Amino acid sequence: MKFENGHYLLSGGINPLKLVEKYGSPLYVYEAETIERQYQRLKAAFQVEKLKISYACKALTNISILKFIKQLGSTIDCVSIQEVQMALRAGFAPVDVLYTPSGVHFSEIEEAVALGVRINLDNIPAIEKFGEIYPHIPICVRINPHIMAGGNLKTSVGHIDSKFGISYQQMPLVQGILETTGMKLEGLHMHTGSDILNPDAFIAGADVMLNLAKDYPDLDYIDFGSGFKVPYKPNDLETNIEELGEKLSAKFNTFCQEYGRAITMVFEPGKFLVSEAGSFLVTVNVVKHGVTTVFAGVDSGLNHLIRPMFYDAYHRISNLSNPEGKTQTYNVVGYICETDTFATKREIPEIAPGDVLCMHNAGAYCYSMASNYNSRLRPAEVLIYQGKDFLIRERETIEDLFKHQIDVF
Ligand SMILES: *Cc1c(COP(=O)(O)O)cnc(C)c1O
Repeated sequence: MKFENGHYLLSGGINPLKLVEKYGSPLYVYEAETIERQYQRLKAAFQVEKLKISYACKALTNISILKFIKQLGSTIDCVSIQEVQMALRAGFAPVDVLYTPSGVHFSEIEEAVALGVRINLDNIPAIEKFGEIYPHIPICVRINPHIMAGGNLKTSVGHIDSKFGISYQQMPLVQGILETTGMKLEGLHMHTGSDILNPDAFIAGADVMLNLAKDYPDLDYIDFGSGFKVPYKPNDLETNIEELGEKLSAKFNTFCQEYGRAITMVFEPGKFLVSEAGSFLVTVNVVKHGVTTVFAGVDSGLNHLIRPMFYDAYHRISNLSNPEGKTQTYNVVGYICETDTFATKREIPEIAPGDVLCMHNAGAYCYSMASNYNSRLRPAEVLIYQGKDFLIRERETIEDLFKHQIDVF
């Protein structure tokens, strides 16, 4: 969404207020053009012979988004069997799906094998069992490189005490299993966290991976995960993708030379591809003057966008109805019976009841984390593509809440 000549406009010149009139409030809106821009930016940053961008779909799983990203040339990373099923339904070929589960029952891994997707394992017992049953199927192993990186502790997943991955120091155990079963290791994987600003954190992880990789002659790819930070605040910093691309490509190309052939470099961005493409439009129900705080209460809450409450995440908020008004200080709060504060002491152009506010960067981990708490309905989703708006998910109705309930009285 851009601010031009006193108005906020979506790509193709679409007025977000008109979308709220047409589809109701609250409303998630995604701009395909922004996803494409981010995809191309990432592709251009890495100069290696074989590069794959594999969308981490847990960020946003609407089937129209999956299909759009597929048609950009992306492969896909799934963390549950349901995401695998969605990816296949969206048209991804099984070989283009990497299944990266954490702590799942082995039967779920067997389901993924039956669907023919690539398997990424992150614990020794699963690798042992897999090697006994499927010695002919190559696997990828998720490495824990012992790197502390990420926006905060909740989103740092590559440190020594993280539940994710197999410590690189435990790889001799994996090597042992490969030798006894004859199973091949086709990929090495790491994913160290979300919101990592410093390219050097990636590079440090990459060094661990490339050092390990030398010992495994059957590799087809090394997956460096993701965690690229995008700007959330005005003038916020983002991961310098171009700088990272230059440094990592050089290292990777040297590695491939020494390895004796070109293998594929993989990244699996979620947030980087879809965060900035999303806008969450809400309507102000009430402006409440407390003793020391002015509250703007909106027709949404942590049921629709939980990142501010869960991660202390910052989402920029604009008043689309009064974009150039004099700013005042507000706490923007939800309608859920919890303390669901979207923003604290935020300067926003003067807010009146009925105004439409926009929460920016609402593409990643927003709708996909939404719930029905307080028996509220989840909003509709709209995709802007080639200057047109497409409804890609209907607003829920009360019937959806009763759908799987069984009334025994
Ligand atoms: C969540 C996740 C990603 C995506 O992380 P972003 O910070 O959204 O880019 C990539 N890989 C794996 C394994 C993940 O779980």
